[in-house]
Amino acid sequence: MAGPSLSLPAPAAQEPAYGHDALVVCDNLVRIYQTESVEVQALQGLDLLVHEGEMVAIVGASGSGKSTLLQVLAGVDAPTAGRARVAGHDLLALTRSERVHYRRDVVGFVRQQTARNLVPYLTAGEVVDLPMSIAGRPRAERRQRTAQLLEAVGVAHCADRRPSEMSGGEQQRVAICVALANEPRVLLADEPTGELDSETAQEVFAALRTANRDLGATIVIVTHDAAVSGQVARTIAIRDGRTSSEVLRSHDDLAAGAHALGEEYAVMDRAGRVQVPREFREALALTRRVRLALEDDHVEIRSDGEAR
Ligand code: ADP
Ligand code: MG
Repeated sequence: MAGPSLSLPAPAAQEPAYGHDALVVCDNLVRIYQTESVEVQALQGLDLLVHEGEMVAIVGASGSGKSTLLQVLAGVDAPTAGRARVAGHDLLALTRSERVHYRRDVVGFVRQQTARNLVPYLTAGEVVDLPMSIAGRPRAERRQRTAQLLEAVGVAHCADRRPSEMSGGEQQRVAICVALANEPRVLLADEPTGELDSETAQEVFAALRTANRDLGATIVIVTHDAAVSGQVARTIAIRDGRTSSEVLRSHDDLAAGAHALGEEYAVMDRAGRVQVPREFREALALTRRVRLALEDDHVEIRSDGEAR
């Protein structure tokens, strides 16, 4: 029997979940470090979406939370709250064995410290082979992929060399091959050019770009280097543990020069919050309260005169 009919409004079309089509989704991500006496909020509700095939740069002052974010995405560190999903894996709910699989097969990681990416007694060929060997891939396939990767980033000549016999730039390019060996869904690099001079940094960056363009890797690279961040289509700035602004560069921008300026956007979170840059706040003495007005094609923010 049908129940009494209620005249409820028709349900609105289901809105797709935030980031449903993104490869990397951080939703209101929080990471708090507890030390004996103080609590450090390294990530304070960070939102981030990265789509398959993108190469994005993350920039921000020292201590802004960049490494913390990458450690979370790498499955090394566990967030305190919020949501983090990479290629369908919920990073707040990984079991121990899922975490092992995740770190081995789903993400690749390149560190700043060149020496820590490699193994002193293994040659480049051996160290690229290692993750595939652990994953149980057949020897012939491993050999072929190792050669292909080393060749792609211009270090085929290092196949039989140990780290001590390679330059810093060569070591980092081999490290990129190691990180890519098991065809991860995302390659994460935390200041991979931080220890290198600018010319060598360019070589390493070129290798990352090759990985993105030719090998199809999705890449998230944390960098201090404006020359590097100026060469990717999207640069995301982190301030105080949140994404604060983004610079987008078109193909034309990028083709125009090594330091494409692009167009800068502030990031609005899902609750509508936008961070007004300090220079703007100071210039107009914007303090705790501001007046907002909706105009035809923009929103105006004015200082609240009384608050002065
Ligand atoms: P970035 O990489 O942008 O320089 P981090 O993510 O390393 O920043 O650090 C963000 C904040 O978290 C900093 O204030 C830092 O001191 C703090 N922090 C990072 N790691 C730890 C830790 N293991 N214990 C306590 N505080 C930490
Ligand atoms: Mg860091």
